[in-house]
Amino acid sequence: MDKIIIVGAGLSGATVARLFADSGMDVTVVDKRSTIGGNAYDCVDKNGITVQPYGPHIFHTKEKEVFDFLSKFTEWNAYEHKVLANIKGKLVPVPFNLTSLYACYSKAKAERIYNVLIKEVGENKQVSILNLKEHKNPEIRDFADFVYNNIFYKYTKKQWKMKPEELGEAVMRRVPVYVSYEDRYFTDEYQFMPKKGFTEMITNMLRHPHIRLKLNTDAEKIFSFDDGKIYFEGTEFDGIVVYTGRVEEIFGYKFGDLPYRTLKFKFKTFDRPSFQKAAVVNYTTSHKFTRITEFTKFTCEPTDKTVIVKEYSKKCKKGDMPYYPVPTEKNYALYAQYKAEAEKYKKLYLLGRLANYIYINMDTAVLNAMKLYEKIMKENEFED
Ligand code: FAD
Ligand code: UDP
Repeated sequence: MDKIIIVGAGLSGATVARLFADSGMDVTVVDKRSTIGGNAYDCVDKNGITVQPYGPHIFHTKEKEVFDFLSKFTEWNAYEHKVLANIKGKLVPVPFNLTSLYACYSKAKAERIYNVLIKEVGENKQVSILNLKEHKNPEIRDFADFVYNNIFYKYTKKQWKMKPEELGEAVMRRVPVYVSYEDRYFTDEYQFMPKKGFTEMITNMLRHPHIRLKLNTDAEKIFSFDDGKIYFEGTEFDGIVVYTGRVEEIFGYKFGDLPYRTLKFKFKTFDRPSFQKAAVVNYTTSHKFTRITEFTKFTCEPTDKTVIVKEYSKKCKKGDMPYYPVPTEKNYALYAQYKAEAEKYKKLYLLGRLANYIYINMDTAVLNAMKLYEKIMKENEFED
């Protein structure tokens, strides 16, 4: 067995594995799934359409370093993501922008709000709904209440069983209000989809003579952690373990469960080229599901069939897939206990959405893996 073992073949694990391999070190990557790519995994269905069984994934980043690194493993299709909100049957752009404003109000009222927004918030600004709701100007607060009630409140309750203000600024800032006609969901400089999909890109990352990949291998069954020592198949292991699974799993859930939201996906194929007006439509005032994604709109290629998925969010129970860490102070405090426990193991490194218990996008997963690689190299005095 190699002296560096990475648990998890998602984007975090694959990035760190590739960086070690490129510097000449042997690494073993294990994953309990039969597939690589973690939640970014995609595959081609029986009609030849690329689908994402663990939910819609769109790549976007401000980080040139991340884009350049991933570009070694894939070519890209330019793709700018646009989302519509279904407000009581009316489709308007989300993030809520000036087009949405004019679609939701009479011309005279929209004009008034527009003028107040430009004066008080500023043209081309992006502002979080929670900030807008607290604004000193009552007309802005009125407008904010409309957006809050029609875009954020019900969607957030469906997704998290919490109110937007309970989730806090960091989550709400992911989807701001635009004081502009910007109609893209993301404003990052780099917005692309991998030409042959995420699985192909991550396969290329892991295809390296220094990387051994073991799928269908659960770390829980091969590792144990006791009194600052790591055991691999019963024998003390003095190598490095980069762990991207749930941290609470390593320690037998001894401080309690870290809460997650899970998703139920309902896929459906239609014998027609298009189902809806945008790749994603968010149901912000009605229905039990949060959004519908139409995968054929990601590829922008002509098709005579189309596939959609509806997402239903629920509390993650034992056996469910942990998709979203629930970002509250209480949960972070519980996570800190596990983190402190993990720090007793000098060569155990936690990484990724699960092990770090953080709500991050793919680019941050890659960036964090790059940083961790540097840290491990330095701490262990490895030669680059
Ligand atoms: P994961 O992808 O969760 O990978 C962890 C891997 O570890 C998994 O393969 C798992 O099987 C394995 N593992 C866990 N426990 C064990 C164990 N005990 N033994 C062995 N293996 C184990 N990001 C974007 O940038 N754009 C998007 O549009 C986007 N959409 C998303 C939509 C949804 C529904 C979700 C849930 C996430 C989305 N993300 C998106 C976020 C993105 O999925 C993550 O940032 C990224 O995949 C994190 O990678 P990771 O490797 O840290 O975790
Ligand atoms: N959100 C909302 N209405 C929307 C879109 C987003 O209330 O139309 C809120 C909701 O709480 C959601 C969060 O903003 O969970 C972040 O949205 P994002 O689209 O980034 O979620 P993800 O794609 O990560 O599921």
